[in-house]
This record gives sequence, structure tokens and C-alpha cells, in this order.
Amino acid sequence: MTARLDGKVALITGAGSGMGRAAAELFASEGARVVVTDVVDDGGNATVAAIRAAGGDATYVRADVSKWRDCEAMVQCATDTYGALHVLYNNAGIFPGDDGGVLDTPETTWDSVMEINLKGVWLGCRAGIPAMIASGGGSIVNVASFVALMGAATAQIAYTASKGGVLSMTREMAVEYARQGIRANALCPGPIQTPLLEELLSDPVRRARRLVHIPMGRLGRAEELAQAALFLASDDSSFMTGASLVVDGGITAAYVTPE
Ligand code: NAD
Repeated sequence: MTARLDGKVALITGAGSGMGRAAAELFASEGARVVVTDVVDDGGNATVAAIRAAGGDATYVRADVSKWRDCEAMVQCATDTYGALHVLYNNAGIFPGDDGGVLDTPETTWDSVMEINLKGVWLGCRAGIPAMIASGGGSIVNVASFVALMGAATAQIAYTASKGGVLSMTREMAVEYARQGIRANALCPGPIQTPLLEELLSDPVRRARRLVHIPMGRLGRAEELAQAALFLASDDSSFMTGASLVVDGGITAAYVTPE
């Protein structure tokens, strides 16, 4: 059986931790050569080491997605090292603890969330799309969230607004590049057990408040999101573009969760 990403070059931002790392390992096991990027070198290098130990091919490059020069350089790394770019997985994101309600969220927090979560996705695409066209087309996967579709139970105004932007931007870029062989889809995860949610989930009250909204009664695992990302990244989703794939344990399906 052919691996699902055989011959593909994939770049994953924020791949030194959580869902990005799980996706990097899965994509490599499916035959992709993977460019791992992050701002935390130890995390990025650990992901590459795990991939190589499993017999895969990966390279780490430090890149802050909110900086244009870094985004240009990470794409250059993909084309210099592997000669092409077919999959761009814009995964990097932050969720600061002081992102709260409309009235109490600091302006600096709003700005940094927008810079990384929203502008970072745009800059990644701005750098990656020309290389993808030159490689004969490919697939962009942008990480939004279930909060792009509905209000969060615990206020996180900047994060929610940034993910809404990712979702609408993804639709528009899908339309713009559909005739040039580039697909763009958004992934909308529910709460997933990763370091991003560590602070929130270490508080038993906040944890319980999250869990009560999830019909499946548990958090998702990074590996479960990686499988959804693999579907969007690979030709298995060849007629899908401008769509959002919700992977949330049923949150957005529920008005009231079962007892
Ligand atoms: P994580 O914190 O485990 O991983 C995020 C990675 O992004 C980290 O390695 C971090 O160093 C990196 N990063 C942060 N700022 C960066 C920057 N400026 N440039 C490059 N890399 C940067 O988090 P995760 O849960 O795996 O989150 C991955 C994505 O999924 C994020 O976009 C997040 O918003 C989204 N998401 C997470 C959840 C969840 O419940 N965990 C739910 C919905 C969406």
C-alpha cells in the first residue's frame, strides 16, 4: 500500500509541541518529508529527533510565524532542503492566560494573539503559496477552533476573534487559488489535551466547565487531530476546499449535553 503522503514535502508551524508534533510524526510516517518549525528550538529539535528515530525524514528551522522574514525563510528551507512544498499546515498558535472578557483583556494580549494566530497564518500562506504553485499545487491546512463557530463558555475574546478570522480567511484563499491547484481548508478542534490548555485544565473548576460541554465527556488527543489533518493534507480530500472540518467530540452538535 502506498503511504498517503508519499513524495510530498510538508511544512508544519508550531510543530515542537502538541498537535503540530503529532501531525509531524504522522505525516512523516505516511511518507512526507517534513519541515518542522517553531520558536522553541528544544521542542522543534525533539520532534525531528523522534521522526528520524522512527526512520522518517525531517528538518527543523526556527521561525516565528508573526515575522515575514521568518516565514520566507521557512519556506526557503523547504525548497532548498527538499526541492518543493506541497503541504502547508499553519498550526502555530497561542492562548494567553489573561485573554478574557471584552472589558478586561489587555490590549497587548489582543495584539499578540492577532499577530501570531491570525497574521501568522496569512504570512505563512503568503510565503508558501508561490512555492506550492511552483511545486504543482498542494494543500493548506489552517488551524482555527470550534470557537470560530460558537461563543466560548469562558471568555477568551482575542483568541476567539483570531480563530474566526482564520476560518473566513481560509474560505477566501480557497476561492482565490482553486484554479491553481491549491486547496485550503480549516481544521476546527474542540478542547485537546496539549500544553496549550495546561494552565486552563490544571484548575479543576475550569476543567469541569469545559468537560460538561463535550458530549463525548472527554478531551481530544493530539493524535486524533493529526489524523484529521492528514485527511485534509492528503489527496484523500481532493475535492474539498474552503471547508471546515470540525473535530470536537460533539460540542458544536449539542444544545444540551446528555447526563
Ligand atoms: P501547543 O502549545 O502544544 O503548541 C503550539 C506550538 O506553537 C508550540 O510549540 C509553540 O512554541 C508554537 N508557537 C507559539 N508561538 C509561535 C510563533 N510565533 N511562531 C511559531 N511557533 C509558535 O498547542 P496546541 O494545542 O498543539 O495548538 C496547536 C494549534 O491548535 C493552535 O493554533 C491552537 O490555537 C489550536 N487549537 C488548540 C486547541 C486545544 O484545545 N489545544 C483547540 C483548538 C485549537
